Amino acid sequence: MTLTRAAPQRPDSLLALRLPETARPGADRAPSPPRPFAPVAVAAAERPAGAPTPFRLHLSPPHLTGGEFDILRRTLESGWVAPAGPVPEAFEAAIAAATGFPHVLAVASGTAALHLAYRCLGVGPGDEVWTQTLTFVATIAPAVQMGAVPRFLDVSPESWTLDPELLARELAAAAARGRLPRAVVSVGLYGQSCDLDAILAVCDRWGVPVVSDSAETLGALYRGRHAGRGARFAAFSFNGNKIVTAGGGGALCAEEPLPIARARHLAAHAKEPAPHYQHETTGYSYGLSSVLAAVGLAQIAVLAERVAARRAIFARYAAAFADLPGVTMMPEPPWSRGTRWLSVALFDPGAFGADREAVRHALAAAGIESRPVWKPLHLQPAFRDAPAAGGAVAVRLFERGLCLPSGSAMTEEEQAVVIEVVRRCCRRRFG
Ligand SMILES: *Cc1c(COP(=O)(O)O)cnc(C)c1O
Repeated sequence: MTLTRAAPQRPDSLLALRLPETARPGADRAPSPPRPFAPVAVAAAERPAGAPTPFRLHLSPPHLTGGEFDILRRTLESGWVAPAGPVPEAFEAAIAAATGFPHVLAVASGTAALHLAYRCLGVGPGDEVWTQTLTFVATIAPAVQMGAVPRFLDVSPESWTLDPELLARELAAAAARGRLPRAVVSVGLYGQSCDLDAILAVCDRWGVPVVSDSAETLGALYRGRHAGRGARFAAFSFNGNKIVTAGGGGALCAEEPLPIARARHLAAHAKEPAPHYQHETTGYSYGLSSVLAAVGLAQIAVLAERVAARRAIFARYAAAFADLPGVTMMPEPPWSRGTRWLSVALFDPGAFGADREAVRHALAAAGIESRPVWKPLHLQPAFRDAPAAGGAVAVRLFERGLCLPSGSAMTEEEQAVVIEVVRRCCRRRFG
């Protein structure tokens, strides 16, 4: 059953979006999932990450199906609320069905899944772990916390993901130095897979395992198979802003059974089979609660619909901006069929007449959240001493790229307001 959310105000003008303080047509039709953008005062665009949001239209809010309530109720009634039992098992089976991965471990977060992958690959102090510089910090954070040295590589302009040719050159140089990385972490970005076959071919040559950070690519295809398939490990996320959510959670997937069996052992404190508590090593408390797995089960059932909705949102932006000078949308290479988890546009300040910050501020003033493309990790103070290879492509994408509201519950009327605000940024200069 799909519940209709409260119908939005018809934004006949931009003013309409600024003013729906209390009006909630349909709010009396119970039960209704929470409105993804609550009416609150619009504040400055300079919101630090993590601060309470002043926005009325969010970048990628959770989109409930209505089916969560039933599964949650049945889960609570069963008494199985711990991170074990039939509900996490059913969630793992659903993830396997959605991705094609035969072996799946549901865990507390995508970051936990990555941490387990790095532990299983033996990442330790002084090891190098390589990834693309254009990504979220969680891709590399667990490896750094394990004492690894990150190396950040540039992305290719055709996909905005790890450049396989650069990777090949860097691996050859590392082999010559006698210091190959312990792992290469490929990353899917904004719903788009990396060129995984090319990356695997290069890494196989030197015997370096590939971990796929697929947190942003659940539901994405690469050469007809699910993104991440073929990597030693793939990590997925069910965080609140992802394409489907468990309210928090993640999954570690593999083609082979043994790595997942080992990760499962480590995720539950590495308890040995014995009547007392017996440990030959230490592990983590990374299990996924049955309560969250229940939410995830309802959500993953609608993954295909969510992908279609996000792709439709991207297509509307692309059509609406096609005539604007200096605006280009994120490319999709022929081998990719992504989810368009976030719709990203590049603004060339010279041609468009405004930079991405001007657009972001204009959107914020209308109560609309947007975000710059990931700041490259090699520019982050936390990694100031880390080695890097290239980075000019990623830096240019950061300078020009803006992620636009992409939530699958966003209505066409709401998107039309976003489009209108962006278009006005251009007309300001060109009349
Ligand atoms: C969201 C995300 C993660 C982390 O997932 P969590 O479930 O929030 O821990 C890791 N990598 C990338 C690229 C992400 O976008």
